[in-house]
Amino acid sequence: MKASVSDALAQAQFGPTRLPDPFTLAHRGVSALLKRPYLAFATEERNKMEIACLDLEGVLIPEVWINVAERTGIEALRATTREIPDYDVLMKQRLGILEENGLGIQEIQDVISTMEPLEGALEMLDWLRERFQVVILSDTFYEFAEPFMRQLNWPTLFCHKLVIDPKGRVTDYQIRQKDPKRQSVRAFQLLNYRCIATGDSYNDTTMLTQAEAGILFCPPDNVVEEFPQFPVARSYEALRKAFAHASLRDLEA
Ligand SMILES: [Mg+2]
Repeated sequence: MKASVSDALAQAQFGPTRLPDPFTLAHRGVSALLKRPYLAFATEERNKMEIACLDLEGVLIPEVWINVAERTGIEALRATTREIPDYDVLMKQRLGILEENGLGIQEIQDVISTMEPLEGALEMLDWLRERFQVVILSDTFYEFAEPFMRQLNWPTLFCHKLVIDPKGRVTDYQIRQKDPKRQSVRAFQLLNYRCIATGDSYNDTTMLTQAEAGILFCPPDNVVEEFPQFPVARSYEALRKAFAHASLRDLEA
């Protein structure tokens, strides 16, 4: 009697004595392998979801201010951060010029509406959207980008915002945060995404550095010289190949 009670207790605690089935054994074997740090790390990295982070101007659309200068004939609007390195000084100058010439948000949007994304940009974006989550990280303003976003089928865009008064005059601007492209990539990485980023200019280099892979797209020579660590793509075909190469998955370009 005593023996059968202890047998019953043992069975309740440890379950019936029998060998695990082949599936359980195989599962335990794989789990044990994955618990080895390097294998687990490699598998985790390989399974990470990937985000494509794209600059906007110079990658998918032309430079907005240069085109607005050309189409309005206001040469002073051509100035970029190359002539005036302080972005704040440059933007204040631009807003002053708009005010002097009586250009409000409606007039600027009318000009921008006549512009188109770069040839092949929509196809490039669609190719990426089928293979990655895609986010555009730009130093432009939502109000300027809107006509382009419509033509690109409204991709996700993180950028800055203009301050517009009730009469439609652009009175100020609101920068989302400092070093916004790099901060966005950092945030995605905290969400456990792997980032592949592309851009054409200086204001992209911190984002390209922060990302797991960075690609320069049609950059000026001085940027190539200063940042030789990044591969350079000079066409959308080359950019697709660079993304496929940078991905941990087996993608066809
Ligand atoms: Mg750019």
